[in-house]
Amino acid sequence: MSIKVKFWGVRGSIATPSADHMKYGGNTSCIEVNVNGRIIILDAGTGVRLLGNCLMERDLKEYLFLQSHTHWDHINGFPFFAPVYRDDVSIKIMAGHLSESGGIKKVLSSQMCQPTFPVPFSELSANLSFTDFKAGESFSLGDGIFVRTAPLKHPDGGTGYRIEHGGSSICYITDTEHVIGHPDEDILSLIEGADLVIYDSTYTDEEYPKFAGWGHSTWQEGIRLCQAANVGQMAIFHHDPSHDDAFMDNVAKQARKVWSNTFVAQEGMTVAIEAASQEEKISVAY
Ligand SMILES: [Zn+2]
Ligand SMILES: [Zn+2]
Repeated sequence: MSIKVKFWGVRGSIATPSADHMKYGGNTSCIEVNVNGRIIILDAGTGVRLLGNCLMERDLKEYLFLQSHTHWDHINGFPFFAPVYRDDVSIKIMAGHLSESGGIKKVLSSQMCQPTFPVPFSELSANLSFTDFKAGESFSLGDGIFVRTAPLKHPDGGTGYRIEHGGSSICYITDTEHVIGHPDEDILSLIEGADLVIYDSTYTDEEYPKFAGWGHSTWQEGIRLCQAANVGQMAIFHHDPSHDDAFMDNVAKQARKVWSNTFVAQEGMTVAIEAASQEEKISVAY
């Protein structure tokens, strides 16, 4: 019984393929969650291209996307996700912020049409299915996997996720804006007691006042929430494009001083959460 997480894209806003961003990675948001062999993909940012190639090599044919929302940095990799061009693949896509505005299928297809993309959505070969729900709802995925959700505070809406299986749990909380001095009650209740929380840490507390209304948060707020909610570990995620490797090294150092159960997500990093023992429950590999 285990949950394995792999970061395929950790950047926010836009891909940053420059030499001084290579340590932490330049691809935008995409995380693979493997729950006892079931593949759940959190967002289809540019990191999903390499994940798609890897899934084909592993001969895996069924996956579920849980979309935090549909800004470019969370969907732009989808047209380059090789499995969508295979007729032996089944892909289910779910989102919680679009049930009253046309749905997830409409948004994904609108980014794949001429003259901005040469292959129309209708020509994709995979067996695609779409489900729109309302952020805040919970649902079962079968095989003992349970998903809880909460609405996030972000322009155009967003959904935070908690994936639970066999007594282990991980949360994906991006993109979201906080109000200084007022912890987000929806997030606190979603992440309570989770083993791992992946949190929108686009800014630092020092930078934050300059970006009111941009829809993002800070690593310091993430730590405050995680400590208040008895979380096991927090991954600093959705790095700002202007934060190069030297900046992120410093964030890693500062954050661990505040709370040692914090690490900065890097492209390619894996995290394993084993249900067996409470003590050494989480292992991180670079
Ligand atoms: Zn984003
Ligand atoms: Zn966004």
